[in-house]
Formats: sequence, structure tokens, C-alpha cells
Amino acid sequence: MAVEQAKRLGVLTSGGDAPGMNAAVRAIVRTALDRNMEVYAIYEGYQGMVEGENRVRKLNWDSVGGILQRGGTIIGTARSEAFRSRPGRLQAVSTLLEHGIDNLIVIGGDGSLYGASLLYQEWPALVAELVTQDRISAEVAARHPHITVVGLPGSIDNDIFGTDMTIGADTALHRITQAVDALSSTAASHQRTFVVEVMGRHCGYLALMGALASGADWALIPSSPPAGDNWEERMCEVLKTGRAAGRRDSIVVVAEGACDRHGHRLTSEYIKKVLEERLDEDVRVIILGHIQRGGSPSAFDRNLSTILGYAAVEEILAAVPGSAPCLIGMRGNRIARTPLQHSVEQTRAVTAAIEEQDFDKAMTLRGHNYQAAFSTLRTLVRALPHAPTPGQKRLRLAVIHAGAPAPGMNTAVRAAVRLGVDQGQRMFGVRNGFQGLIAGDIHEMNWMSVNGWAPIGGAELGTNRKTPSGKDFYAIARTFEEHEIQGLLMIGGWSGYEAIYQLFRARDNFPAFNIPLVCLPATIDNDLPGSDLSIGADTALNSIIEAVDKIKQSAVASRRCFVVEVMGRNCGYLAQMSGLATGAERVYLPEEGVTLNNLQADLAMLIDGFRHGKRLSVMIRNENAHPLYTTSFMSTLFAEEGKGLFDVRQAILGHLQQGGNPTPFDRILATRLAATAIEFLVAEAGKASQAAVFMGLQTGQVQLNNLEDLPRMADLTSQRPKEQWWLDTRPIARVLSQPAPHFGAQENAGEPDQPSHDGSGA
Ligand code: ADP
Repeated sequence: MAVEQAKRLGVLTSGGDAPGMNAAVRAIVRTALDRNMEVYAIYEGYQGMVEGENRVRKLNWDSVGGILQRGGTIIGTARSEAFRSRPGRLQAVSTLLEHGIDNLIVIGGDGSLYGASLLYQEWPALVAELVTQDRISAEVAARHPHITVVGLPGSIDNDIFGTDMTIGADTALHRITQAVDALSSTAASHQRTFVVEVMGRHCGYLALMGALASGADWALIPSSPPAGDNWEERMCEVLKTGRAAGRRDSIVVVAEGACDRHGHRLTSEYIKKVLEERLDEDVRVIILGHIQRGGSPSAFDRNLSTILGYAAVEEILAAVPGSAPCLIGMRGNRIARTPLQHSVEQTRAVTAAIEEQDFDKAMTLRGHNYQAAFSTLRTLVRALPHAPTPGQKRLRLAVIHAGAPAPGMNTAVRAAVRLGVDQGQRMFGVRNGFQGLIAGDIHEMNWMSVNGWAPIGGAELGTNRKTPSGKDFYAIARTFEEHEIQGLLMIGGWSGYEAIYQLFRARDNFPAFNIPLVCLPATIDNDLPGSDLSIGADTALNSIIEAVDKIKQSAVASRRCFVVEVMGRNCGYLAQMSGLATGAERVYLPEEGVTLNNLQADLAMLIDGFRHGKRLSVMIRNENAHPLYTTSFMSTLFAEEGKGLFDVRQAILGHLQQGGNPTPFDRILATRLAATAIEFLVAEAGKASQAAVFMGLQTGQVQLNNLEDLPRMADLTSQRPKEQWWLDTRPIARVLSQPAPHFGAQENAGEPDQPSHDGSGA
């Protein structure tokens, strides 16, 4: 009886390398093996496909062990001239058929994806040509009439249509913000000006978001050249005025492909010259270059790549013969499929528009969020705000924090204050949360009071968990009245939401509360209703994965199991997503609880694994996963029942998760939410009956939810905890972290202990 041959999948990384490619390769290989496919790495991208021979190698479960946290790509990448020609592609098809591969996942940028689309289109003709040339038999050709192709967006530039983010862009932004943060401190010490050149030939995403996130003073991006022919004058004027107003440093961020309205390249050297001549001071150029591609991928990139890699294999399995290739991307935290050809065409349309100097079209093609970020940046980089319009009604708006500190709170306050002041409003900061509001500790803030706040962690205004009770309402109303507050923005966590809801409910008795109220989600726990993500959660996630990476490295020589406890209160987001990003074998979530049966099964897994040569195991437990099966209980149980086979250590990460400078993602989210909050307060303040809302990001869009719905939506979140979007990643984590022996003779279970064996690409 003929045995049906397993599907064979080829995977390659191509074009510029991007951090996160390894995580994608790992997810693809393990998911495919789990679904009984055979997986082949095609080393050095299309070049390896053309060269064949030992460039194509079968991978097993362990081949992709220990690579999740590594930058670059272990299967190598290259640019291949040969593949651009038809004879080169004919040779590539011959290589694939030699290995029986007719399923392909390509991870790369615009050029690589175009190449993949071309390969799909030409496949039948190239196969027929190989038959004509007697290089393959008609039977072989008949077995492989089509190739199934799936593309993943791998590019640090974030320039691919069909996904909110490309693999590597978030990590590149980490490198940029770290560099600009570091430069700012030295620049401030010497009152210097730096020109920082970042990557992005046709796409200014890194320059735009890098400038927005780091609080830079000017940015030059390809799709939106500076307006007018005297922009040099204006740029220098802004920097000069900024200095006079008290800014000690000046940072100009320029994308490598920046140009003026006439299409002339604006090099960093040219900008340096302009600044030196007109400002009469020493200007330094820093070209970040390949540093932006390097280093360990961020939590976001690891998880994006993992989720996309898993989905790519599912797409291959679901494809019917001849299915047109698609790009798998992520939009609003959900998987999105786009026909590959359409994605390539739209991506190229932006480049073409810039080349034709049709900058409006380029900006339109980049989408609404990009345009909004650009417009916000234009305000935030101003040296000083626009003067209020004569006769303008100037609203008095207050900002307050509540709850535990969350990295990004300062960034949000900075954006709110500057955007408000720029519109002519008067902005007030409340110190120390509701305690300060009760005590009347409130002060007016101006443009420069938030100078330098974008990158700093903690909460400069102060925050605490004090929730006002009914007896405090009178004092709060008096503070509002004394300062004539006409709108309140609360940036904080659940205790702040509850407090604002109480004020809202007390409006009948306290007319001072009848002002627009906004709750802006800021907590590392990511447990707030009405928002897929809250400010601070991404920074906490990155702090956790850095700690877990270090913990893993600390245990190279012994047999050891770590039980790592992370924060999150009753929300397992941090545990689940850090588990996914570090390859933890098990996560314990409050949404699922823990049973004795679970613990027994996990213990059995540990004993089996360590008996078969495992050296390290990592379990991640949310602080509230179970009230009695605590981290300490679990550690003792595993140690006692392991009977000396392995050591157990507990690592309670604690407050390091609430600290640290906000990640670029948190800074960008904070700025975006604050911009919407100010827009809302200004629009509502003039109305007779003022709305109150809690805001958030839902499937990628900023939404305002009526405060009246808070209890209902909060109940819904706690009653239906399993409906949160990130819980969909649980099956992925389960597949990828399972022990290898499941797949036959390979021993040494588990992810963290495995160095990559044959994955060097050499
Ligand atoms: P990226 O994928 O990062 O955009 P490139 O544009 O250099 O990087 O493309 C990577 C590889 O993809 C190229 O070296 C080439 O092998 C292949 N490729 C790019 N454009 C084409 C094309 N027009 N036709 C065929 N192959 C292409």
C-alpha cells in the first residue's frame, strides 16, 4: 500500500535581516512538525535556493531550540542577483523539486515578497521547462503542479502593506529610542545639537515614530518633506527658540531617504552643515546604521513573529491546490490575510508616489494612523506653543494619575499638556493622585514644565491607590471650583477608573463634577475594560523577558527548574505573553486557575524531561493564578517530589516590572491616547451636558466608551475572562513549548536548554 508522503515545507529568510526572524522560523518549524509536515530550511534566502545542494537542510525540533531571543536569522539571509533572472528561478525550482518541496514560507521585505509572488506565478511554466530540458521526469512534474506560497513581513522599516507592524520594526525602534535617550543626556550636558540618521529609504516610519517616542526636536521623513523652500530657516528658528526657552539639547532625526519637495536628498551631512552655519555651534552626526537591525528582539517582535509563523503554517495547511499566495500580517492584534500581489503592489505604490514627488498620495497610502502621528509630532516638536488666538475661550483642564505607576504615564502627561497648551487651553497638574485633589495640590503647567518627560519612567506628578470616598467629594468639588477646572483627564489604573466613576455618579449632588471626564488606561497589569492594551504593559513585558533571559543564562550547568512570578493581578496578560516570548514550558493564569491535577501533570513532565537530559525548565506564574497554590508552594512541591533529580528556584520579579523607561510602543500609545483625550475634553467642555468616557485601543483603533457602561463592561471582562484577545495565543504556546520526544527519537525536551545545533547557517 502506498504511504502518503508528508507535506514538505521550505522556509527562508531573505533581504535585510530583522530581529524576530528567528522566532518566526522557530514557530514555523515546530508548528509544521506538530502537523506532521517535513520542514527544510533554505539557507541564505533565494541564493541558497538557486545554489541548492547543502543549502537546503531538513530541520528537527531541536534545530530551532534556544533561538527565540537571538537577533538576526540562524538560517542566513542574502540578496540574490541570480534569482532576479528567469534562469536563476528555473534553477531554484529545480532545487525545490529535488527535495520534493512545494510549500514555501518566505520571510522578508518588499523585494523578497515580490520574488515569492513571481515564483508562484511562474511555477507551472518553469516546471514544464525543466521537463522539456529533461532535468525532471513528467511524473515529478505531475506531482507538483503548483507551489503554495505564504509571505511574512520581515523588515525593520515597517513598510509593508497588510500589517500594522513588520517583524523587526519594534526592535529597531527600541534601538533608536535607546540611542536618542543616551544622546540626549550627553547633548544636554554640553548644550549640543545632534543629527541622528535612522534607516528608512522610502518609509519614514522609524524616523517618525523614533522622533515621536524620544521627544526629538525635528524630524525629516521621506513621505513628507519639509514644506516651503525656507524650511532650513524654520528648523533653525525652532531650535534657537527652544534653547532660549530652556531646552538644553537639540536632536534632529533624519531618515536615510529624506528629501526636500523637489526630490533632492537631504543627507545628515547637509543638515549638519546647515545647523552649524546658522546656529553657530558644534553639531555632531550619529548614523545609527546596522545597530538598528541588531540585538535581541523585543517582546513584541518575538510574539508577533511567533504568532505569524504559526498562522503561516495553518495557511499552508488550509490552502487548496493553486491557492494564490497571501501575506500573513497583524492588524489590530488580529491575524490579517492579504493577497501577496496586492500587498506588494500597494507597498510599491508608496515608493512610486515618493519618487514622483506626489507626497500627499504617499501620506494617504501610509494610512490614517501614520498621518495622525505625523500631525501630533508636528505639534510636539514645536519649540513653543502657538499663542492663544485673541478673544479665544481658554479652557482650564486638569491631569491626574491614580493607581500604581506605569511606564508611559509621563509621556501621556507631556503630550496632553503640550497639545492642550498649543490650542490655547490652560493645563493643570494634580500632584499625588486623588489625595492631591482632595488637598487642593494642583498647579498650572506650561510647555516647558513637561520638557524631557517623554522618555522617563515613573510618574512625575505622583500617583497612589487612594480612592476618594463620599466624604472626600466636598473637598474635591471645592478644588475644582477654586481652580475653575472644566475637564479632567485621569491617566491610571482601575482604582482611578472607580474613582472617576464615583465622581460621575455624584454629579447630581456636586455640580462641580459636571465636567467632561476621561479615563486613559495606564497600568502594567493590562486589566482594564474597554482597551486591548494599556500604557505600561509593553514596558513591563520587556522587563520580564530581559529578566527571564538572564535567569535562563544563569543556569547553564545545572538541572534546574525556575518558577518565575510576574505581576498582572487578576489578568494573565503579562504571564501569557512573557511565556510566549521566552519559550516557557508552562504558564499559570488566573483566567484558567490551577488544579492539583495540573500540578501533577507538570511535575510528571518535569521528571520525564530531566530524566531525558533536560537541563533547564522555566514556568511563569501570574501572582494571582491561585490563592493557595502559591509560587512558594509550587516550588516546594516540585523540589520535594523531584527527589533530587533537579533543583527548583523561585524568582519573584516584583517591582522591577513597574519601573524602567517606557518602551517606544508605550510612548507612542501614550501620545496617541493623550491626543484623543485632549480632543475629546475640548470638544465636550463647551456643551451643556458633558460626557464622561473611558478610552482605549480596540482592534487597533482608539475608542471612547461611555462611563455609564463601566460596571457592565468591567463585569463582562471578569465574567468572561476567556474572551480576551491575547488568550488566543495559548494553543500556540502549547504547541511550541511541548517536549521534543513526542516527535520520535529526538531527546532533550524543552526549549530553553537547547543551543541551536545545526542552525548556525554555516
Ligand atoms: P527586501 O526583501 O528586504 O526588500 P531586496 O529588495 O534586496 O530586500 O530583495 C531581496 C531578494 O529578493 C533579492 O536579492 C532578490 O533575490 C529577490 N527579489 C527582489 N526583487 C525581485 C524581483 N523583482 N524579481 C525577482 N526577485 C526579486
